[in-house]
Amino acid sequence: MEKRINELTNWMKQENIEFAFITSTANIYYLSKFYTHPHERVAGVGVFQNEEPFIICPKMEMASARNTGWSFEIVGYDDTENPWEFIHNAIQKRKVSVATIAIEKEHLSFERGEKLQNLFPNVEFKAVEDKLNELRLIKDESELAILREAAKLADFGVEVGVSAIKEGVTELEIVAKIEYELKRKGVREMSFSTMVLTGAKTAAPHGVPGLDDIKKGDLVLFDLGVILDGYCSDITRTVAYHSINEKQQEVYDTVLKAQLAAVEASKPGTEIGIIDKAARDIIRAAGYGEYFTHRIGHGLGIDVHEFPSLNATNTNPLRTGMTYTIEPGIYIPNIGGVRIEDDIYITDSGCEVLTKYPKELQIVK
Ligand code: MN
Ligand code: MN
Repeated sequence: MEKRINELTNWMKQENIEFAFITSTANIYYLSKFYTHPHERVAGVGVFQNEEPFIICPKMEMASARNTGWSFEIVGYDDTENPWEFIHNAIQKRKVSVATIAIEKEHLSFERGEKLQNLFPNVEFKAVEDKLNELRLIKDESELAILREAAKLADFGVEVGVSAIKEGVTELEIVAKIEYELKRKGVREMSFSTMVLTGAKTAAPHGVPGLDDIKKGDLVLFDLGVILDGYCSDITRTVAYHSINEKQQEVYDTVLKAQLAAVEASKPGTEIGIIDKAARDIIRAAGYGEYFTHRIGHGLGIDVHEFPSLNATNTNPLRTGMTYTIEPGIYIPNIGGVRIEDDIYITDSGCEVLTKYPKELQIVK
């Protein structure tokens, strides 16, 4: 953690920023290993150029902040106290005179920005997101180890889901089975609401599971992931129930071919937009271009969607240590859709596919 804080302070020195106040769950976790959802209360990590950093959090969370191994100051406040005064005091105590504060402009609310401004009337604010996103872009060995395990649990989730398919079973019953079995393995939180869709509903990339039941000839789409030690996984598989028609088969084969091409193209140095293009070219050539309505994928880490963005216009190169999803899909309204999604880690020479559940078409009998 100290290495990450040092990277941030080096940047602060270059930019002449005396104080950084980090408040999003993901970035607090990245800098301190303290995983907190403080709801309406204030929590954050305060970082200085040369002085010791501090965590501020509600008093009742101080013990869990300490349990992370954080060796610096932890400032606690209760519900009758004003956290902003505590932040002010923590800065005064270090005798730092603050002219510029780095904040997460996308995250810190306008109201909180005003409170900071009231504490430091003449201060200037700079955005810290770009720097933290850049640091988080490249995963180290310890992060990779967690991402591998999170991906294994996602594979297991799909396995549970596929084996729960039966005529008449509803989407939400399968969601419940998947999450029950994952909880039995110690998964506390999914990285997003588990998606199980059947029949024509598979045509909605962000469809919502309900009481629709599985019928013979349906496609069934699973999209799920877990949060393990603060890191997310994200997998999608589509299977057929009982039988598959020619059209569904053609769509499936096209998505699989596109997905494999994008995986194949994933190696350090490749322009990120090429990954999208590799898949999209195949889907277009098969005549389904208009039905592939989203980018090929997204970065994956503490947030289920983070950098890099794998869209067609991203000209940055892939770098060793980047982790992202590859998830082409074809969605035909009123008919159905297929998506296949894996989690990818860029190695020195190519990539490692972290999710390993089979991708060949499965017809569940
Ligand atoms: Mn997904
Ligand atoms: Mn995804």
